[in-house]
Amino acid sequence: MEPFLSVHGNDSSFEPVRSSVLPYGRQEINEDDIQAVIVALQSDWLTTGPRVQEFERAFAAWVGSSHAVALSNGTAALHACMAALRIGSGDEVIVPAMTFAASANCVVYCGGTPVFADVDKGTLLLDPESVADRITKRTRAVVAVDYGGQPCDYDAIREVAPGIPIVADACHAPGATYRGQSVGTLAELNCFSTHPVKHFTTGEGGLVTTEESGMAEWIRAFRNHGITTDHRQRAEAGSWYYEMVDLGYNYRLTDFQCALGISQLTRLRQWVDRRREIAALYDKGLSAINGIQALAVRPEVEHSYHLYVVRLFEELFGTDRQSAFASLRQEGIGVNVHYPPVHLHPYYTTHFGTGRGLCPVAEDAYEKILSLPMFPGMLDSDVEDVLEAMQRVRSRV
Ligand SMILES: *Cc1c(COP(=O)(O)O)cnc(C)c1O
Repeated sequence: MEPFLSVHGNDSSFEPVRSSVLPYGRQEINEDDIQAVIVALQSDWLTTGPRVQEFERAFAAWVGSSHAVALSNGTAALHACMAALRIGSGDEVIVPAMTFAASANCVVYCGGTPVFADVDKGTLLLDPESVADRITKRTRAVVAVDYGGQPCDYDAIREVAPGIPIVADACHAPGATYRGQSVGTLAELNCFSTHPVKHFTTGEGGLVTTEESGMAEWIRAFRNHGITTDHRQRAEAGSWYYEMVDLGYNYRLTDFQCALGISQLTRLRQWVDRRREIAALYDKGLSAINGIQALAVRPEVEHSYHLYVVRLFEELFGTDRQSAFASLRQEGIGVNVHYPPVHLHPYYTTHFGTGRGLCPVAEDAYEKILSLPMFPGMLDSDVEDVLEAMQRVRSRV
């Protein structure tokens, strides 16, 4: 956690813009969701029943991919992809520095080495030139993170990394498109998370989408200890026999979580639309505030706004990000910072010898960025509160 500076410690007349905190993200659960989970709980199957396949088919249809595999979380989805690509000792996988640690950790789980690439200054997305710089004879994959909900430049990445498989970490980007093509169909393997702060939720959960049926089948076995049939299939076949053909894990998602996911999916399209509306309100409002700027959005994409990330320019805004963060929190605005660059985490500096100077664009951006509240249940008046707080913090300096 960053230190929470008390800006108004002794000022009893201070009235924040909001008396209760507006969080940066929040799930939407309705009566239909609750009923769907209850029905699942009352059924014969608590885990790996009919709802798993139903959820997978519904999500595959939603993104327009041939196959989806549900796993216990997004990190398990990333791990499964690295394992499916047979990443192991001596293998290098290129990962952007500006992402959640899980995008890199999945490489380490398999004994591989994450090689950190820098990001584009305007979008903070994986920079294809930096990818080109990092490629060696040992490069086995590239993790393309659709940071904040904007798809990476997949064509440019393919061009600099010909023949190298891409794993899309699309945890931020369901509903986004790149050159008219849906996220979830842009890479060989595409990972999603259904953690409550993401676009839709199953509590914990994750998905991999792919066009390759062989990959989908392999990942289904991987999530079930590397065993090729699940308990339900054996029950139906009246058989006890099974074979473990690869080393897998227990990364299964339960049936009642899938029930929640199926119900949530019916509202996902409208939630993506609402996120875009909120972003447009921010775009408009922030254009009137000096010293603060949203990240760039490329013309060939439709953003799906998991995050709304702005950059603060200290000289123009009048205060640095650290103080702005504390002041906005005191105004009841739940701002956040995504992310500390992964290569600066002590685990990576200690075990992989990474450090400052490796990805200067990500390192510099980290000092300036703030994520503003962004979730589909936000009202227009909530956006106005954020803008008012921003004005206040700016004019106070
Ligand atoms: C959320 C997230 C993950 C991990 O998902 P979990 O479901 O929390 O395991 C991985 N990568 C990115 C970019 C994420 O935002």
